[in-house]
This record gives sequence, structure tokens and C-alpha cells, in this order.
Amino acid sequence: MNDLTLKLEGIAKAYNTGKPNEVQVLRGVSLTVGKGEVVALVAPSGAGKSTLLHIAGLLDTPDTGTVAIGGEDLTKLGDRKRTAVRRNDVGFIYQFHHLLPEFSALENIVLPQLANGIAQSVAEEHAIELLGKVGVAERAAHRPAALSGGEQQRVAFCRALANKPKLLLADEPTGNLDPGTSDRVFDALMDLVRSSGLSALIATHNLELAARMDRTVRLDKGLIT
Ligand code: ADP
Repeated sequence: MNDLTLKLEGIAKAYNTGKPNEVQVLRGVSLTVGKGEVVALVAPSGAGKSTLLHIAGLLDTPDTGTVAIGGEDLTKLGDRKRTAVRRNDVGFIYQFHHLLPEFSALENIVLPQLANGIAQSVAEEHAIELLGKVGVAERAAHRPAALSGGEQQRVAFCRALANKPKLLLADEPTGNLDPGTSDRVFDALMDLVRSSGLSALIATHNLELAARMDRTVRLDKGLIT
């Protein structure tokens, strides 16, 4: 039995900008997220949080190091398998909701499930259950433009959980909201994560939000300190 949902080992990443000095963003980052554990990733802007989350979520590849999700080393998988893992096992939340504007809140949560072969009625029932958990079930029929910023972000949380991932990766998930709203929306996210027993790595530069998680790791000068 492997009780680690995410295991990153020795992750290094440089961006070749075409200038003589390439940007060495990550210099050998190792971190783990246990089953059901919620870890805060705290770092100043530009420290490489997004780069690390993208590598953990298989959206980008490291120069060196390994990424294991659910005990399986995914570093050397081909594109098709990586896409399948990304779709089934990982949920992503960004600072901006990135909901599809032409579709209702409900449809935004149903569509990824249909893409995964779930029946429409089952997908809708699950979507309504998720929307209920974050307190926006009555807004299910509305398109994103008719929702407040906080509501849009709550819907984006539901979409990230639509396919029951093992791991949630979030990049400043409430960073775009005013402080009061951010607080309430973050509570909704934590309730959702806790009630689903999900493991999560959540980047924030807000130390109060970080303190509500199980553990904080800091990224500085390309290393976890
Ligand atoms: P954070 O999310 O902590 O703000 P990022 O991971 O977005 O940091 O970026 C870390 C550093 O890498 C920054 O200096 C950024 O300018 C640089 N960077 C990010 N993506 C690229 C890219 N595609 N090409 C070149 N440099 C990049």
C-alpha cells in the first residue's frame, strides 16, 4: 500500500529564454502529499509555483526528477497515458475560473464527465450534488457571466472534482477575489476537499489561508525550504 497521493522527487526545470543565462526555476524540488492531506505551497510571485503545479499535474515535463501519483511513476509515460491520468486522477483550479461561457454552471460540470464516458443522468446528479456542497445549487442553470466572481470560482471547484480525481492542484484559487469573499470561498473549497477525502496541493501567498491547511511547504530560490 502506498499512502502517498503525490510524490515529487528532485524536480528541476529551466526555461531557455534565448538569452545567455537560462532561467533555472526549480533546482531539485522534492515534496509529498499524503492521502487526504491538504498541503499549502507558499512562495512569492515568480518563485515557480505555477511551474511546479503544472509539472505535478503532468501539464509540463521536468528536465530531471520524477512525478508519482497514487504510487505510479508517471515520468516516462507516453502522451496518451499522461492525458488519461490528467483527465482521471488530477483536478486543476486556477486563479481565474476558465469556465466555458456558452454553457451553464451545471453543464460546465457535466461536460468533463461525459468526456469520460459517464451517462448524462449520472453526471447531472453528481454535478448537482457538488454544486449543493459549495452552496450554489440554485444557480445551476446560469451561465458564468450571470454569476458573481465567488460563485464562478465555486463552480470551477466543482468542475475540478467532477471526475473524482485523486489529487487536486490549485494555483491561488481565491487570489482573484476580494478578501471577504476569498475567505468564504476558501472555506467552501476546504469543505469540499475534506468531505471528498481528496489530497490537495494549494498554492497561495496568503499565510492565513495556508494556516488552515494541514501543512505548509515553502518554495524559495528553486528549492523547498
Ligand atoms: P509563480 O507561479 O510562482 O509566480 P511561475 O512558475 O509562473 O512562478 O514562474 C517562475 C519563473 O519562470 C518566472 O521568473 C517566470 O518569468 C519564468 N517562466 C515561467 N514560464 C516561462 C516560460 N514559458 N518561458 C520562460 N520563462 C518562464
